[in-house]
Amino acid sequence: MYDVLSQNIQYLHGVGPRRAQLLNEELGIYTLHDLLYHFPYRYIDRSRIYTVHDLSDGMQYVQLKGSLLGYETLGKGSARRIEADFTDGTGYVRLVWFKGLKYVERTLKTGVTYLLLGKPTLFNNRFNIAHPELDVLKDDSSLDGITGLRPVYRVTEKMKRAGLTSGAIEEMVDAVFSQLKGLSIAETLPDYLLSRCHLMGLNDAIRKIHHPESLSVIPSVELRLKFEELFYVQLDVLSYAKDRVIKYRGFRFSRVGDYFMRFYHECLPFELTSAQKRVIREIRHDLGSGRQMNRLLQGDVGSGKTMVSVMTMLIGIDNDYQSCIMAPTEILAEQHCATMQRLLGPIGVRVELLTGTVKGKRRQSVLDGLQDGSIHVLVGTHALLEDTVNFKNLGVAVIDEQHRFGVEQRSRLWLKNEFPPHILVMTATPIPRTLAMTVYGDLDVSVIDELPPGRKPIKTVHFYDKAVEQRVQLVRSEVAKGHQVYFVYPLIKESEKSDLKNLEEGFRQICKQFPDLNVGMLHGKMKPSEKNDVMQSFASGELHLLVSTTVIEVGVDVSNASVMIIENAERFGLAQLHQLRGRVGRGAEQSYCVLVTGYKLSENTRRRVEIMCETTDGFRIAEEDLKLRGPGDLEGTQQSGVIFTFKIANIARDGELLQQAREVARQVVDEDPLHELPQNKILWSQLKLQRKTNTNWAAIS
Ligand code: ADP
Ligand code: MG
Repeated sequence: MYDVLSQNIQYLHGVGPRRAQLLNEELGIYTLHDLLYHFPYRYIDRSRIYTVHDLSDGMQYVQLKGSLLGYETLGKGSARRIEADFTDGTGYVRLVWFKGLKYVERTLKTGVTYLLLGKPTLFNNRFNIAHPELDVLKDDSSLDGITGLRPVYRVTEKMKRAGLTSGAIEEMVDAVFSQLKGLSIAETLPDYLLSRCHLMGLNDAIRKIHHPESLSVIPSVELRLKFEELFYVQLDVLSYAKDRVIKYRGFRFSRVGDYFMRFYHECLPFELTSAQKRVIREIRHDLGSGRQMNRLLQGDVGSGKTMVSVMTMLIGIDNDYQSCIMAPTEILAEQHCATMQRLLGPIGVRVELLTGTVKGKRRQSVLDGLQDGSIHVLVGTHALLEDTVNFKNLGVAVIDEQHRFGVEQRSRLWLKNEFPPHILVMTATPIPRTLAMTVYGDLDVSVIDELPPGRKPIKTVHFYDKAVEQRVQLVRSEVAKGHQVYFVYPLIKESEKSDLKNLEEGFRQICKQFPDLNVGMLHGKMKPSEKNDVMQSFASGELHLLVSTTVIEVGVDVSNASVMIIENAERFGLAQLHQLRGRVGRGAEQSYCVLVTGYKLSENTRRRVEIMCETTDGFRIAEEDLKLRGPGDLEGTQQSGVIFTFKIANIARDGELLQQAREVARQVVDEDPLHELPQNKILWSQLKLQRKTNTNWAAIS
């Protein structure tokens, strides 16, 4: 059975190599199975045909039946478009195409009757429909058989341009069903789970999601499909975690010894917050348990995660193991190294740096020191993953700003020792609980939910870009108090050149506006040594203003900086704005964040700006982000290599079902840790199949 559905999409009736390529590239559809799992996102009542006369503003997709009076190509260059007049005898609608004009021109006909599908909008007092779908109706009787609900499938612009519309997908899906004939689609959940959870069979669900007899069946169909999706992710993560517990014993760090104690009593530069203390206790407990630690430390920007990592590494050193900490940028690695040398040098801990720019003799001496064990703590970028980097005995590995690393990079740290070291991953991108459960599975999670005392909440304001004077005043008054200011410009890969020009132009203007101040510029294209020099001069207070791209986004800690001005704020996502804002407000003084945008803002951007001005709570921002963008786009998930492959479940909304699926998966894993029970056979083979084809959720930690 699975064989039929694993057939390449190319050979399906009506597809062929060109369409197959589009389906592969645009929607990730390779097989018939993939196509059946490309679910409609809504339905249109097919029996209902509106008249032009009936149309009203704000209507969603409608069907009309009529013909074209004529069409013409208008405009030049990017304004080129095809316009056509459509009528059904009760009125006229203007149809417009901006894209794929050649194809449209070739296919439009006058003198035939069309069944049109599109979304009408009122423009200059008449209805327009952009990029409608048109199907030629042979004769009126061909409408007779059409009843029920018509599925609407997501297709991309590129597909539409090639004529691969929702209607075309519908035909393909029907071709699969006719190829299946009476065969039913193989079930993926065992009977006992179907009845325990009151779920519909897969065959029914798949057929009905494409062709529901009425909208009332949709909730139970969706429930079944969502459950399956969420359940398998949870089964994946939880069974992987179980295997790990069975397979790996961790080093038992039974001692909390001299280094830790001396540091704690003599060298701590401040009193730890109670949240920091609690998290350190949790970590100590893990390290002493004899089980390999795999812990995620979440804490908002500025909550003091670095200190927790230092104390964790000290416990490793007390037990005669080495530690390392990996940071996503060179700037951050340098900063961590300097901090740790300053903190730990006095108690005789040797801390060294390894990044791509540490070369030659210096590099060799670091490599030697790692092998002979004389280096206790290695601070680095992903350069420390290289094969030439070998530890004598690595016991603790910390990953800072872990959302910046790929899955593969993180998993390579595991291999830096004969037994995997204890792992602490830290992130300031707070992700909502439901998402954390999905992404991190059985990682233990610690949260620092408290900022060091004396911090004043950052004041966030929104200025339009024309309001230069307001910005100048704020900068002047803060610099007069001896504070420093960041200006951040976006630098997005796709528009790198113009972005860089923007940055340089911004730098020139700022120099002109503040001729008496020292202004530095920083971007990723500079040589590492130059970057370092600029960063050093800012950290030392020599520079008053730093004009930078987002290279300073994560981790950078200059507590004297009190203003963060974000230019073109409309181009940043919420999580990124929050990270950037976190560069200020690190001292006891009042700090400010200024979001600078143009006048014209989309609804979504306006909302983002509002949220930023309303709250500094990272968790709230993450929740809002999830709502605004959907999980597929959530920062810290894409970068982390987690591609959200959910087809139907929506973790922003289906949190409760996720909990339930997780509970069921946990029961299965507990009852059947070695995958032996006959009633679960179907589950384990399905999981294996999915692991081959899908994101490996479980390996993400
Ligand atoms: P993040 O969690 O964003 O990595 P950092 O570890 O960089 O935060 O800490 C932010 C700043 O707060 C640093 O300057 C750090 O020295 C300071 N800090 C950390 N913990 C405390 C504390 N308990 N009391 C006072 N200041 C602290
Ligand atoms: Mg940090």
